[in-house]
Amino acid sequence: MQGYFVTGTDTDAGKTTVTAALSVLLGREGARPLVIKPVQTGCLKKGQSLLVPDVACVQSFGGEACALHCYEPPCSPHLAADLAGEKLCCQDLACEVREKALGRTVLVEGAGGLHVPLNESEDMLDLMQALSLPAVLVVANKLGCLNHARLSLEAMQARGLAVAGMVLIRTLPDTHYDAGCGAEAVQADEERILSDNVISLKRMGEALSVPLLADIPYLGDPFDREALLLSLQPAASVLQEKLDAQCSHEKERAEDLAFDREHLWHPYTSASKPLPVFMVRSVHDNKLVLDDGRELIDGMSSWWCAVHGYGNDRLKKAMQRQLAVMSHVMFGGITHRPAIELARRLIPLVPEGLDHLFYADSGSVSVEVALKMAVQYQISKGRPQRQKFLTPMGGYHGDTQGAMSVCDPVTGMHTLFNRLLPDHLFMERPSCRFDKPFDPASLDDARRFLKAYGDEIAAIILEPVVQGAGGMWFYHPDYLKGLYALCKERDILLIADEIATGFGRTGKLFACEWAGITPDICCLGKALTGGMMTGAVTMCTTNVAQGIGAADEEHGGGILMHGPTFMANPLFCAAALASIDELLASPWQERVLQIEARLKEGLSSLRSHTSVRDVRVLGAIGVVETAEPVNMRTLQAFFVEHGVWIRPFNHLIYLMPPFVTPLQDIDRLCVAVRSAVQEGCI
Ligand SMILES: *Cc1c(COP(=O)(O)O)cnc(C)c1O
Repeated sequence: MQGYFVTGTDTDAGKTTVTAALSVLLGREGARPLVIKPVQTGCLKKGQSLLVPDVACVQSFGGEACALHCYEPPCSPHLAADLAGEKLCCQDLACEVREKALGRTVLVEGAGGLHVPLNESEDMLDLMQALSLPAVLVVANKLGCLNHARLSLEAMQARGLAVAGMVLIRTLPDTHYDAGCGAEAVQADEERILSDNVISLKRMGEALSVPLLADIPYLGDPFDREALLLSLQPAASVLQEKLDAQCSHEKERAEDLAFDREHLWHPYTSASKPLPVFMVRSVHDNKLVLDDGRELIDGMSSWWCAVHGYGNDRLKKAMQRQLAVMSHVMFGGITHRPAIELARRLIPLVPEGLDHLFYADSGSVSVEVALKMAVQYQISKGRPQRQKFLTPMGGYHGDTQGAMSVCDPVTGMHTLFNRLLPDHLFMERPSCRFDKPFDPASLDDARRFLKAYGDEIAAIILEPVVQGAGGMWFYHPDYLKGLYALCKERDILLIADEIATGFGRTGKLFACEWAGITPDICCLGKALTGGMMTGAVTMCTTNVAQGIGAADEEHGGGILMHGPTFMANPLFCAAALASIDELLASPWQERVLQIEARLKEGLSSLRSHTSVRDVRVLGAIGVVETAEPVNMRTLQAFFVEHGVWIRPFNHLIYLMPPFVTPLQDIDRLCVAVRSAVQEGCI
């Protein structure tokens, strides 16, 4: 859909007149645009039908217009809809506009200004963002308009909306003041104000890269149509040029994708033979919007992190506020409220006793820090020979070298880096399924390793209950509990990597809660910021922190040897705080349970399919393990064709949707997975 969204600084700013005139002028230069009024209030009853004033205005110019939701009371859309027993919804309105547009150029006209409410939580600006058309701001030339124009421009730009330009219009005659004593002086003053508005608005526009497209004089009442068209003609030409530029968009995108292929690495891909990538234009709720306007239901939460979906207001606002105050400052020798507040929130939230916290800049780095903590702890206890880690097969802890060295040796490609990576100890994958009774024998291998290498092991590192990227495997919580007890016997630390599982994904806030343990060290990341930005933490018990701190000079002097540049980045802290607030204020546990039930319902029939090895569901994670590795290229394209974003790998097609996903979208994700398997497209 191409065209413009015409908005005003105010009601009665002259929006409709300008829209009507532009529709005619743009029609002269190219295809005639359709004027769409998503919501019209103040309609007049005329027999059985409603007379829609703005539509009538456009038609009187000879333009074509339609209104989607019409109400009689001349009030704000939210109130008018409410009085009619209806509820307006931004995304639905946007869909209706797109359906009406059907490939035509459109001029969508708002109602009133930007923050006119559509319902309790959404306003006109939300609709503009959903439509993502460039805006034309109509400014009524009067006292106070500079302030209104600036607020409007900044509000639109803060939402990432392009503003094509402003149209300044005089809606009142020059002589609207009562004649009488001093009238002439008042008039002269007013003239000075109104002509200065033109200059000041132009300057303001320049500072914000928004051109003033026209300055329309007062044109009488009823206004002189021809004079209006004449004074808007140059503006229409500029807008037409920009429309033509929008048309070459497809060519531009093809060039972008070619550049991407040529120069950019994507995760785990080849630079010489990359797999195709899809251009995402924007995101909202649980949807990814592709560049061609197609919307995909997100089944990935952008790799576990976007638990609140996209564009969450609380998160965006918190980050904007922080950005306005301080986006970054070093953490060496300095502290700040966001860092302190986040720690204050996290400590009582995580399993009890993890009272010390290190801010890392990504999940992998938080794992590096955890490994160092464990080794330094053992050194300070007089056991410097304990520098090995024991970990189950099938684990994933990140892509930096230390983290890689404890990833599954096969999927982590250890053979490739065999000289680079330190050798650690790998025991069998926890064999006892989450959904089967616990078998104590599943701990035998761990016992064997601890007995043989106990004096060399600093810590056991593993993902609690759910092994993620290493195989999407769910094991029995009693395994974790048993392992914890075995560690305690030898003062070997237990590092729980909760980067994927933390913040509700498995149905508990933290997966360690399934086993009722407090690990010695715990890594959090991914959903920590609700997917707004990178950042992670490594938390540990007082025993570990004091242990490290007690080391003498010869053994490191008690200093934890790490300190990233972006440690405790305030913007990250603000995002994380808001994300935790949002999660705790939401019925997340209920949602995760509902998603779990729907995933079970939607996927379990695949269990009997010959090309499927296993189906498992836990919390908001659904996994279909296939007998043969999937064909990424064809399967990815299949899913996009079916309107869903699912990124399979190896033998795994899995779903981990945002918690805010409507249940019918969970069903659609499951239908897509079922179709792929049943149609043999894997
Ligand atoms: C993703 C992940 C990491 C690595 O986090 P990054 O932010 O990608 O560095 C570590 N551990 C687990 C369990 C993960 O899922």
